[in-house]
Amino acid sequence: MRFEDLPTPSYVVDEELLEKNLKVLNGVVERTGCKIILAQKAFSMFAMYPLIGKYLNGTTASGLYEARLGYEEMGKENHVFAPAYRDDEIDEIISICDHIIFNSFSQLERFKDKALQAGRKVGLRINPECSTQGGHDIYDPCAIGSRFGVTIEHFRPDLLDGVSGLHFHTLCQQNSDDLEKTLNAVEEKFGPWLSQMEWINFGGGHHITREDYDIPLLEKCIKKMQDNYGLQVYLEPGEAVALNAGYLITTVLDTIQNGIEIAILDTSASCHMPDVLEMPYRPPLFASGEAGEKPFTYRLGGQTCMAGDVIGEYSFDQPLKNGDRLVFGDMAIYSMVKNTTFNGMPLPTIAVKGKDGDCYIAHQFGYQDFKMRLA
Ligand SMILES: *Cc1c(COP(=O)(O)O)cnc(C)c1O
Repeated sequence: MRFEDLPTPSYVVDEELLEKNLKVLNGVVERTGCKIILAQKAFSMFAMYPLIGKYLNGTTASGLYEARLGYEEMGKENHVFAPAYRDDEIDEIISICDHIIFNSFSQLERFKDKALQAGRKVGLRINPECSTQGGHDIYDPCAIGSRFGVTIEHFRPDLLDGVSGLHFHTLCQQNSDDLEKTLNAVEEKFGPWLSQMEWINFGGGHHITREDYDIPLLEKCIKKMQDNYGLQVYLEPGEAVALNAGYLITTVLDTIQNGIEIAILDTSASCHMPDVLEMPYRPPLFASGEAGEKPFTYRLGGQTCMAGDVIGEYSFDQPLKNGDRLVFGDMAIYSMVKNTTFNGMPLPTIAVKGKDGDCYIAHQFGYQDFKMRLA
């Protein structure tokens, strides 16, 4: 099927662009001997897992369901970290995960023996208390009062028996200079225990596939931990895997005026691109400009009844009219994994644009997907 013939709204993942990212990541793996695994939180489109598995070493999960998905659909190294595990899920997690990372010494004490008996690697998440994000607290695991990771004040070297690795995750859409700073904090605080570990996990938030990302500095950081402490280094990016590798296509349903021109689309910021409101950010839109840049400016809004369901203001060469199709960019990550059926909104179709340009539908949703989550 042609791109133009896909139904709207649809998330369309572009196989060629995804593979381009995967080759960049695989280059880091090949040159350094580190391992890179997909953080499924950002992108769980399992139809692409066979392709991703060709280039990356496996998956990581934030809990049982993502862990099951990685196990079933990629079947390579499967890691898990959760702020806390439930008694009734830990056995299944241990049965399908290779690395089990704990957020506290109490969780470690509670479940470590079980995990070790099953031959699993046990890790501890540390909090290096090194904020590099400049005041964006909802994405900063090092913010004051954060629930993530053990700080040096609460670190218990006497309880490290059986722990083969340390994990930190402190970055979000950042470059390798911030990783370097963070690693310095990790060494300064936790350096004495690094040599007794087998592996270290640098978490996610590395924007490795972004144009201006400094890959040589990343590789220097990796080599330093390998050379100084003999560690196997893991990275678990989510965003970087599918950055700019997908679209959300939508149709204009109506245009109205209220002081400004407004277009109503068959998509929704709050349901289909929640990060636009949560982050917040203005998603790229093909063939458009900033407000006022081109002759016809519109506020683009969704079909829900929420006043704030607005994607942003964009300008166009021609007036918008019913039936026009718009294509938002960078809609593979943190999109389909976060969408909702709030207000009875249909979920967008999930589609693939193949390397030859031909498109196909991977999954379509309907009324039942709205109803089955309610009672
Ligand atoms: C969110 C998260 C990731 C992935 O982060 P990205 O910003 O998508 O690269 C990796 N590890 C952990 C523990 C996370 O919480």
